[in-house]
Amino acid sequence: MEIRLNDWILEVDFDRTSKFYNDMDDEIQCDCLSCQNYRLYLKKNNGVRSFFQQLGIDPFKDGDYTSYGVPENGRLLYLGVYHIVGVIVSGPTVITDMWSNVNLTKVEDFNIGFSYELRCVDPDFPEPIIQLEFEANLPWLLDKEWAE
Ligand SMILES: [Zn+2]
Repeated sequence: MEIRLNDWILEVDFDRTSKFYNDMDDEIQCDCLSCQNYRLYLKKNNGVRSFFQQLGIDPFKDGDYTSYGVPENGRLLYLGVYHIVGVIVSGPTVITDMWSNVNLTKVEDFNIGFSYELRCVDPDFPEPIIQLEFEANLPWLLDKEWAE
């Protein structure tokens, strides 16, 4: 299935991607406050959730993401990656050093790009692999105060 997102045209194997996420354990979820806040945001944001789901990603599983710094003006910065079975038909394939120069895909509070640079990829993830990278400045939604 071909998906066009700003600078990228991706050929995504939706079935193999979603099968990988479906087969994953739920129990690897981190319980720290930052991660709880991240998941609560996803629960409340259909737009972001359906963006990930159209690619076959279950954003509640597997993602390697982490928050940076402390909340500012009620928002906390998250950076992370998810993986997709597929190939980049056209568009940048390396974005680490040019993050601010690529035409990122904006989905609500998320800025998203794609590359072949892989990190934190599950050794069982089916090839070929595209890495989805994101930064997201998310509102703090938990009743509890942020704490490290
Ligand atoms: Zn965590």
